[in-house]
Amino acid sequence: MTPGLIFFGTRSVTMSYKKGDYVCPDCGPTQYNWKRQRRFFTLYFIPLIPLDLLNEYVECQGCKSTWDTSILDSQGAIES
Ligand SMILES: [Zn+2]
Repeated sequence: MTPGLIFFGTRSVTMSYKKGDYVCPDCGPTQYNWKRQRRFFTLYFIPLIPLDLLNEYVECQGCKSTWDTSILDSQGAIES
């Protein structure tokens, strides 16, 4: 019997954490998309187990600028 090949590894996956309204320093009142990039353990290229958080940022839906997530603290972001 020969053991089958098992493909496993890690890969980073970016996903939307939450969205809401905020005031962009560049383009004014608009919507943000809070994104989180997390490393996943993959098996056969399918992300299975979430590992450490690599990065998180806020992307402006108006001008596509990216900001540190602390930008939402400063203005009491409206949750959606
Ligand atoms: Zn903007």
